Amino acid sequence: MTLQIPFDNSYAALPPAFYSRQVPIPVAAPRLLAFNRPLADLLGLSDLPDEAALARIFSGNEVPAGATPLAQAYAGHQFGGFSPRLGDGRALLLGETLGTDGLRRDIALKGSGPTPYSRRGDGRAWMGPVLREYVVSEAMYALGIPTTRALAAVATGETIYRETALPGAILTRVAQSHIRVGTFEYFAARGDRDGLQQLYDHTRARHYPEAETPLELLQAVIARQASLIAQWMAVGFIHGVMNTDNCQVAGETIDYGPCAFMDTWHPDTVYSSIDHQGRYAYSNQPHAVTWNLAKLASALVSLEADPQAAVPPYQQAIEAMPGQITAQWLARFRAKIGLTARADSDTADAQLIADLLDLMQAQKLDFTNTFRALSGPAPRDAFLDRDAFDGWNARWQARLVGETTPQARMEAANPWIIPRNHRMEEMISAAVAGDMAPFHRLMEVLATPYRAQPAQSSLTLPPTEDQIVPATYCGT
Ligand code: AMP
Ligand code: MG
Repeated sequence: MTLQIPFDNSYAALPPAFYSRQVPIPVAAPRLLAFNRPLADLLGLSDLPDEAALARIFSGNEVPAGATPLAQAYAGHQFGGFSPRLGDGRALLLGETLGTDGLRRDIALKGSGPTPYSRRGDGRAWMGPVLREYVVSEAMYALGIPTTRALAAVATGETIYRETALPGAILTRVAQSHIRVGTFEYFAARGDRDGLQQLYDHTRARHYPEAETPLELLQAVIARQASLIAQWMAVGFIHGVMNTDNCQVAGETIDYGPCAFMDTWHPDTVYSSIDHQGRYAYSNQPHAVTWNLAKLASALVSLEADPQAAVPPYQQAIEAMPGQITAQWLARFRAKIGLTARADSDTADAQLIADLLDLMQAQKLDFTNTFRALSGPAPRDAFLDRDAFDGWNARWQARLVGETTPQARMEAANPWIIPRNHRMEEMISAAVAGDMAPFHRLMEVLATPYRAQPAQSSLTLPPTEDQIVPATYCGT
C-alpha cells in the first residue's frame, strides 16, 4: 500500500520563472523518526501506510502520485545585503492539498538534495536542526502562534559533513505557502513586471482575497506580521535570522534555524552564532520586521502605473507599522499580567509592564517562569529582591481592581512550558545516539503548553550554569 495524497497544486501552474522542476535525490536508507498524525488528518491524508512506506515518501525516495516537485525561486536581503537569487537550495515543494478545514497548504521536503539554487551547498540537512524545527514549530503551533508545521522527520541513513560527520535527515514542512518577501524581491529586482503581477495575483487569491490593490495587500501583510512579532515577544521567542527570505507573506513563523526561546530575561538577547551585531536580537525584532516589509513595499509599489507618484501611502503604511506592533505588544503583555485594555491607561499600563521587566532584568529572572508565577499561589517567591516586587505589586494590585478574570487570562497568556534550548540539545544528542524518548517526551508535554503538568516540571527548569547553550546555529 502506498500513501494517497490528494494534491491540488497551484504553484506549479505558475510560469517557469517561478521555480525549477527538480526531483528529490534518493537517500541510502530512509527511516521514519517522527510522523505527525493529527497534521496528516488535517491535510486530508487518510489510510496511512506502514512506516517504511512513509519513510520512502517523506525522504523523497518515492515521489507520490500527483506531486509536482519543484524548487522555488526567491531573492532575499540577508543581514541587510541583497542576494538577487537564493531559492530553495535544499528544499522542494511536493505540492499542495486542501485540508479538511478548507485551507490550502504546501507540503515540502527540506534536506532533499541539491537543486539549481544550491550554489556550494550539499542540499542536505542533518538530524539536529531537523528535529529542532520539528519540536519548536509544533510547540509554536501549540502555543497558538502562526507557524509552519512539521509533518515528518526521516533519517536518511547517510552521513553529511559540516564541521564534523553528522547523520542526515529530511523534514517535511507544511505551510500555508512558501511565498516570502524575498519572492516579491526576486521579480522586482529582475524588473519582471509580469512575473510580479502574477505573484501578486496568486498571493492575493491564496492569502488575502479581501485585498483589492497592492497597497491593501501590503497593509494586510503588515497587520499579520505585526501580530506575529508581538506574539513572539510575548513568549520570549527570538527568530534569529529574520532575513527577507525568511519572512513569509502569509504571516507564519518560518525557517527555524538559530531560533531560541530566552531563559533569563534580557531584551538584548541573541543566540544566533552568525548574528554578531545583534541585528536580530529579541528587542530588535519589531525593527527588523518593519525593515523587511519596507522591502515588500518597494516591490509592490512597482506594480503601480506611476510608481514614483504612488510612494507616499506605501511609506505611510510602513511608518505606521512600529505603532501597530507596539499596540499588539501592549495587548499581549497586558494579558500576561491579567489586564484588559482600558483606553485611558495605555501609558500607565505600558509603564507597569516595563517596570516589571526592569525588575526581572535586575534580578536576572527567568522570563517564562516569572510570568507564570504571577498567577500562581506565591508570586513574591519568584523574585530575589522581594521588597522591590512588593512596590511593583502594590501598583499592580491597584490596577487589577475591576478586572474580572485576571487569573484565567494570565494562565492563557503565560505558558507553563516552552521548548528550552538546553532540552533541545539534550533531545538531539539522544536522537543521534538512537534514543527518541526525549523527543517524544518533549512533544507530549509541549502539546499543551498552558496546562501545568507537575510530573514534568523538571522540563520547565531554566538551564544550570553548565547546561546553558550559548549559541545556536543555522544548521546549514
Ligand atoms: P536559510 O539560512 O536556511 O534560510 O538558507 C538561506 C539560503 O541558503 C537558501 O537559499 C537555502 O536554500 C540555502 N541553503 C542553506 N543550506 C543549504 C544547503 N545545505 N545546501 C544548499 N543550499 C542551502
Ligand atoms: Mg531560509
